[in-house]
Amino acid sequence: MAKKILVLAEVRDHSLRNVSFEAIAAGRQLAESGQVVVALLGEKIASLGTELLHYGADRVLVVEDEKLKNYSSDGYSQALLEIVNQENPEGIIIGHTALGKDLAPKIASKLNVGLISDVTSIEVEDDDVIFTRPIYSGKAFEKKKTLDDVVIITIRPNNIEALDKDGSRSGEIEKISANITDLRTIVQEVVRKASDGVDLSEAKVVVAGGRGVKSAEGFEPLKELASVLGGAVGASRGACDADYCDYSLQIGQTGKVVTPDLYIACGISGAIQHLAGMSNSKVIVAINKDPDANIFNVADYGIVGDLFEVVPLLTEEFKKIKA
Ligand code: FAD
Repeated sequence: MAKKILVLAEVRDHSLRNVSFEAIAAGRQLAESGQVVVALLGEKIASLGTELLHYGADRVLVVEDEKLKNYSSDGYSQALLEIVNQENPEGIIIGHTALGKDLAPKIASKLNVGLISDVTSIEVEDDDVIFTRPIYSGKAFEKKKTLDDVVIITIRPNNIEALDKDGSRSGEIEKISANITDLRTIVQEVVRKASDGVDLSEAKVVVAGGRGVKSAEGFEPLKELASVLGGAVGASRGACDADYCDYSLQIGQTGKVVTPDLYIACGISGAIQHLAGMSNSKVIVAINKDPDANIFNVADYGIVGDLFEVVPLLTEEFKKIKA
């Protein structure tokens, strides 16, 4: 079957977020021999179109408009719906990010079709497409298919592998305009809480600290380990509540959900609400001085010890490997 699938690219700080490339890979799976069309919305972003082709898009539709400079649900939904009406895709794929969680339900409701959110894998069998998504805070997975003619899904970052970047891939980049009116809110400025380095929700490695880190300074060895591994620093709510770090780092049921290749939990007990945000990580390493800590029940590798001794040792060893 050949289908046309529309993917929304996500841009932050003038760069494409990885989830855009993962969404193209998901689009390729759904399109089979059909077309993957990417919508690229924003201001001064046309130059990013080529990279989307290199990651497997067949066509890129660029809408450059100052009203799209910052995300707003009115602006983005109007632009995306215009593209949907023009292209009539059989599927729409958006990242399960803060932006996608806001936009996708709005698009689904405007088109009067169902939405399958937080998809972690896709299987295509003959005419059936089965989407897997976590439920009960990641303790179980359900498999779903849609009965609607158009399928709208959001995909969880870091789960569907992007295609390898191939500079020889080519396709069309088309500039189009959209009639964006009725903005009920205008975002004047986005002030991001300082999070230097790798974006936590897309990081391949996360080094997370809990109340066992004991102070804001106690996070320093974790930051160093994360930096050596090219990863991001995260935290339990215990650490955030104790003011050791900012809430933007919180992982768990009421924080961010992460699925990195490697999650290193330092001084985190493993409360169920924390596990809800990280238990689907590919490899989990736990460092805790309490051998009975619950975190060891989900860990692939456990180190019973003092994090202030173990973390610097790990950092030194990784530095040697990288040298
Ligand atoms: P603790 O449970 O106090 O654990 C600290 C651990 O550090 C202990 O296991 C201890 O053995 C170890 N330790 C101490 N010193 C050292 C050392 N030197 N070296 C090694 N190990 C050491 N929590 C989240 O994380 N995310 C959420 O999103 C979240 N949402 C919640 C929502 C609700 C509605 C509720 C009720 C709770 C939520 N919580 C959440 C809180 C959660 O229940 C726990 O209280 C919290 O995760 C505990 O954080 P912690 O593991 O850092 O602290």
